[in-house]
Amino acid sequence: MRAMTQKQILVVEDEEDIQELLRYNLTKDGYQVHCTGSGESGLREARKLLPDLLILDLMLPKMNGLEVCRQLKSAADTNHIPIIMLTAKGEESDIVIGLEMGADDYVTKPFSVQVFLSRVKAVLRRNQETELPESGILSFKDLQIHLGKYEVRVKDELTKLTRTEFMILEFLSRRPGWVFTRGQIVDAVRGDGYAITDRAIDFQIVGLRKKLGDVAKYIETVRGVGYRFAEI
Ligand code: CA
Repeated sequence: MRAMTQKQILVVEDEEDIQELLRYNLTKDGYQVHCTGSGESGLREARKLLPDLLILDLMLPKMNGLEVCRQLKSAADTNHIPIIMLTAKGEESDIVIGLEMGADDYVTKPFSVQVFLSRVKAVLRRNQETELPESGILSFKDLQIHLGKYEVRVKDELTKLTRTEFMILEFLSRRPGWVFTRGQIVDAVRGDGYAITDRAIDFQIVGLRKKLGDVAKYIETVRGVGYRFAEI
């Protein structure tokens, strides 16, 4: 019988060796694992099982992973299921589409099992991490972000940011290690009274990094996908 605490993970992957590798390692880590090999069966199983996490290969027979993601994220009973996409090198544009549909993360093949398992853990504890610290201050070594005061300190020095720069920094730093597409950043800072484009986000990041000086390295570029705040 399944322990109450055991999380259920559905793996949708048509390559049998990868499916077996994931099944073996996830089971060893204490998860209950279900595997299936096509987009259609993946969609069906996800609707039936409502797993705690879906591992979704993008290149699948019959229905591709992006279509599975789209259908799950657009239905009220399945849109809460976190999704980690499995992608191949060169699929950056599909990664962007998937993240903007609501997928939580991606892992590019070939991947290390350790990296994969740590992503799984991170996604499963994601909800707790989004809660704000009681102080209202996000603190990372030489960088403090005071949310209530819109204040940023680098090595205890007050650093003046524009409102948009502040919002981008706050948005990224709330989820260290998570990659966000330019489109997701645009959505997060919208409401500033003027239209922000993907290109404008790149421009804002340049300005933000300049002002952050020594801690500019915390904002990482993920080539072809977007930006993330480093895990410090
Ligand atoms: Ca595949």
